[in-house]
Amino acid sequence: MVKQKIAAAPSIRRLPAYLHLVRQAQREGLQYISGTAIAQELNLEPIQVRKDLSITHIMGKPKKGYSVASLIGAIEHFLSWDTTRRAVLIGAGNLGTALLGYQEFQYHGLQVVAAFDVNPEKIGSRIHQVPVFSVETLEQEIPTRGVKTALLTVPSHAAQAITEILIRVGIEGIWNFTKAKLRVPDTMVVQKEDLSSGYALFCVMMQARQLESYSSS
Ligand code: NAD
Repeated sequence: MVKQKIAAAPSIRRLPAYLHLVRQAQREGLQYISGTAIAQELNLEPIQVRKDLSITHIMGKPKKGYSVASLIGAIEHFLSWDTTRRAVLIGAGNLGTALLGYQEFQYHGLQVVAAFDVNPEKIGSRIHQVPVFSVETLEQEIPTRGVKTALLTVPSHAAQAITEILIRVGIEGIWNFTKAKLRVPDTMVVQKEDLSSGYALFCVMMQARQLESYSSS
């Protein structure tokens, strides 16, 4: 698997929040936005914001800040959200359906062109306009679609077997929503996603808040 020793990973994780805010500023007609204003809105330190944005090679202007249009362009370009990334989704269940319906992906250049499932009731249907095929046709369908990215939303026990097929058909990156630790070649990019880690942080913050309110009462 491509070893993702990306030193700037925490900065990269914050870029979508900056982009959202700057797009909003653009809708409000602002031409420039300062690192301090961004920091205030997002409860961050201005120096952190400037450091994060420097990875996109954007330069601010003294006393004015960043050009809103240039900043949007710089973040989108750095994230490659200004180019279309065609993808397939395997496992059109609850999570898969939610992802297929997530309109925001179109602003990130992500275009899911086909979904695959084992359920005969889903095969041949369309979910949020995306056609659903039998998973048995993966090897025929993927090479014809110019797709290098897969979203994996099958039950965890099925994940490795599907991954073996994805490797064979030339998929280069898997956004893995399952709990399975996938065995893949060194050249493949795998990003594992887990809502539970965000929820874990939320729970600890709630506990800390409760402890604070007990000790102050
Ligand atoms: P689900 O049962 O609703 O959906 C699973 C879908 O996969 C079904 O449509 C099923 O027919 C299909 N499927 C089963 N075996 C298959 C195979 N071999 N090939 C293709 N399709 C197959 O489940 P869900 O709630 O949508 O969860 C799906 C996966 O996502 C699970 O692995 C779950 O653990 C994971 N999940 C992760 C997160 C997260 O935070 N990352 C959140 C929710 C669910």
